Formats: sequence, C-alpha cells, structure tokens
Amino acid sequence: QAKSTGNSPLCFFDPQMQAQVRERSEIDAGLRMALEKQQFLLHYQPQVDDTGQIIGAEALVRWKHPEQGLISPARFIPVAEDNGLILPLGHWVLETACQQLALWADNPARAHLTIAVNISAKQLSQAHFVDQVMEVLQRTGAPAQRLKLELTESALVHEIESIIDKMNSLKMHGVGFSLDDFGTGYSSLAYLKRLPLDQLKIDQSFVRDISFDANSADIAQTIILLAERMKISVLAEGVETQLQQSALRERGCHHYQGYLFGRPMPIEEFEGELLRR
Ligand code: C2E
Ligand code: MG
Ligand code: MG
Ligand code: MG
Repeated sequence: QAKSTGNSPLCFFDPQMQAQVRERSEIDAGLRMALEKQQFLLHYQPQVDDTGQIIGAEALVRWKHPEQGLISPARFIPVAEDNGLILPLGHWVLETACQQLALWADNPARAHLTIAVNISAKQLSQAHFVDQVMEVLQRTGAPAQRLKLELTESALVHEIESIIDKMNSLKMHGVGFSLDDFGTGYSSLAYLKRLPLDQLKIDQSFVRDISFDANSADIAQTIILLAERMKISVLAEGVETQLQQSALRERGCHHYQGYLFGRPMPIEEFEGELLRR
C-alpha cells in the first residue's frame, strides 16, 4: 500500500536519504582539501569551578569552509572517522592544543589551566598513539600534567587490554583522561574500575533535564557518587541555566562546562574572558 504511488517498484532511495548521501560525499571530498589548505581551527570552551573561576578549556575543532562558513564537528567528524582523515586531523588538533598549553605554561597567571582534547577510537587504537602524544608534548614543550584526553565509551569497546596499557603509559608521564558523554554508551562497570581515569563527564542529556526530571537527576547523582567512589573528579557538560548548576552542586558536582559559563570561542576571546574574570 505504501509503495502504490511510485511507478517504479525498484526505488531504494528517498530524496532525503539521497540528500544525506550527497552531503556526506561532499564532506568526504572537501575534508581532504581542507586539511591541505589548513581550513581547521580550534575553539575553546571554558571549564569552571563553583566560584566561576576558569580552570581550563575543552578544545573543539571547527571547519572554516570558504563558502559555507564554520561547519560543526558533528557534521564532519563522523565522516573523518570513516575515511581515516581523523588521524591527520586529530594529530593537528592535539598539536595545536599543545602549542597553546605551552604558551600558557610560560605565563604564571595561566600555568594552572588545562586543555581537554577529544580523541577518536581510531586514534587510540593506533599502535603508535602513545609515542605520538609524547612526541607532540616534547616538541611543543607543553606540560603533560595540563593535557587531558577525552575518550568516549565507544573508544573503549575494542582491544580494551591494549587501550588500558596505552592509558597507563601516558598517565605515567602525567597525561590525564576524562570519559566523555558518560552514561550514553556501553560502559561495563567491571572494566570502568580498571581504566586509569581522572574524570567522568556527565553527558549534557542528563544535565538538560536535571531540574525537572527525576530520572535524569538520579542518573546524574549516580555518576557523581560513582566518581567519588573511584576517587576521580566529575564535570557536568551542557550547563545552560543557574537552576541546572545548583541541582548539580547540591548533588556534589563542582566542575561545569556549558553556555552558562561561555560558548566555545576563538582563543583571542578566551584570553579576554580570562582577563575579565
Ligand atoms: P563533546 O566532546 O561532547 O563536546 C561538547 C559539545 O557540546 C560541543 O559541541 C559543545 O559546543 C557543545 N556544548 C557545550 N556547552 C553546551 C551547552 O550548554 N548546551 C548545548 N546544547 N551544547 C553545548 P561541538 O563543538 O559541536 O562538538 C560536537 C562533538 O564533536 C564533540 O562532543 C566531540 O564528540 C566532537 N569533536 C569536537 N572536536 C573534536 C576533535 O577535535 N576531535 C574529535 N575526535 N572529536 C571532536
Ligand atoms: Mg568532549
Ligand atoms: Mg561530551
Ligand atoms: Mg558529545
């Protein structure tokens, strides 16, 4: 019945799907060019404590497209993960963030700031990942203690033993690890205990509804207690309102990131924020 209007019984693609496929292949082709032409930049989003002090930043990549303007990573990171370009792109992100860390390290008023860098599963699964990170740290002069690598649960599904080894090696040099979007993936509590993590990040989906949905509030509370038990820190992402912040604070979370404290912004603006506060 549903197909009765079509004159061809072999119509596999609806127009919307076709548009999506086209957009993906346009992005795929564009990304190669963009890397050569250095069309990527980093925005920095403040991470703050209870007093509103900036304790660090998350580096978030943007694609400055010559015609389309700034393109969100949600549109191109999945494509880059599929076509392998996440490896050179991820390396560029790490290097650029470390250059910034090295600049801050030389300034006593900035030396305490950390930068969190998102790492894809493909990067982490590379045999030389540890060497690469160490090489970038040495070459840029960034202090390892100020670098935080954000992993998602999906990065931890395969080759878990080898990933734990890599994390331990980097951790010995001072690099920190944060588990991003926590609660949305497939973490098993059994291996969560074995991962040398420094932080859990409460996913924004739980933060969004925390002040009116008991279920979200319970999940946030559980993540906070879990972090306490693991003796690691916890940071809430996607905090947009004071109500959300106080709901988190009441439950024992004291580190935040979200539009309430600042959007991801170019480094010049971020530096301005540091001076303003
Ligand atoms: P993520 O790592 O979970 O980053 C947080 C996302 O939430 C960012 O989106 C940020 O702009 C957004 N956000 C921050 N505060 C708020 C808020 O208060 N409300 C709302 N609604 N959103 C907020 P963005 O920058 O579009 O990045 C999306 C995702 O793309 C990131 O999610 C991360 O998974 C990925 N990504 C970004 N940069 C990189 C990168 O350099 N490498 C890799 N592998 N992935 C990246
Ligand atoms: Mg992140
Ligand atoms: Mg996140
Ligand atoms: Mg996310």
